Amino acid sequence: MNNCFFCKILNREIPSKFIYEDDVCFAVNDINPKAKKHILVIPKEHIVSLNYVEDLNLIKDLFSAIRKINKQENITDFKTLINTGKNAGQEVNHLHIHILSN
Ligand code: 5GP
Ligand code: ZN
Repeated sequence: MNNCFFCKILNREIPSKFIYEDDVCFAVNDINPKAKKHILVIPKEHIVSLNYVEDLNLIKDLFSAIRKINKQENITDFKTLINTGKNAGQEVNHLHIHILSN
């Protein structure tokens, strides 16, 4: 957990601009954007991946946050992406949802 990039961002060990924050999650711009707007929505709890989510209410909360973030960022058309597992392209082992918008 100590070596987790996203926990380090949350703990301000890696400086990063939070574009959104609530009790459950926070959002930052992806460091290596793959679309004009590329935002990562990250639960504050360290959960390795979607496969490790115990309370699925978390997913509802994350998508609720996504709608708020999109309103704030004037995003209407977008894709969401959750990579789960190394072979599916998950690089950071802390659950996150990508918002991609061109
Ligand atoms: P994954 O491939 O795990 O679904 O996505 C990880 C994402 O995190 C990648 O798009 C990568 O560019 C991004 N990323 C990795 N390290 C950092 C970081 O330190 N800060 C931010 N803002 N994004 C990061
Ligand atoms: Zn973490």
